[in-house]
Amino acid sequence: MQIHLSEISSCDGKCVQHSIDFEMDTITFQSGSFPILHKNPIELTITNTGNKVLEIEGTGEITVGIPCDRCLEEVSVSIPLDFKRKLDMKLTDEDRIHDLDEKSYLTGMDLDVDRLVYLEVLMSWPLKVLCKEDCKGLCSQCGKNLNFGPCDCAEEPKDPRMAAISDIFSKFKEV
Ligand SMILES: [Zn+2]
Ligand SMILES: [Zn+2]
Repeated sequence: MQIHLSEISSCDGKCVQHSIDFEMDTITFQSGSFPILHKNPIELTITNTGNKVLEIEGTGEITVGIPCDRCLEEVSVSIPLDFKRKLDMKLTDEDRIHDLDEKSYLTGMDLDVDRLVYLEVLMSWPLKVLCKEDCKGLCSQCGKNLNFGPCDCAEEPKDPRMAAISDIFSKFKEV
């Protein structure tokens, strides 16, 4: 959704509120594409603090499906949004060339709210996602999800060649 800012920009002290439905259904960036499972409307307050400077405050929450770091099961992760941005409307698009973020959501007097919220979501993206604290993850050999029970790989290798190798390793440890 686009909000046209020319009216508020020319009126010192003016304050407007918008309740906005985030339009994206997935969050896509280098790490992959993640479905949005639930979203609350984004409450946006835009205030002209004088001298063509706008202060934008936003709150909201979206819930994204992110795979567990260990077992890859999808985890429902809620990302709270609470941000504040200052926009100097005296600057031209050329002036904004150094602020690539701002340039991407503000074109002239048009604020691209989805793009702004998308960038905020990326900044709040969780560094680590686990389905539960003690997730056992996947077996590195057979790929079985070990939360559902052990696999057969944990047993001593039966192949004699493997046994010889593990022998070497255990001798190595003794030294
Ligand atoms: Zn897990
Ligand atoms: Zn296994």
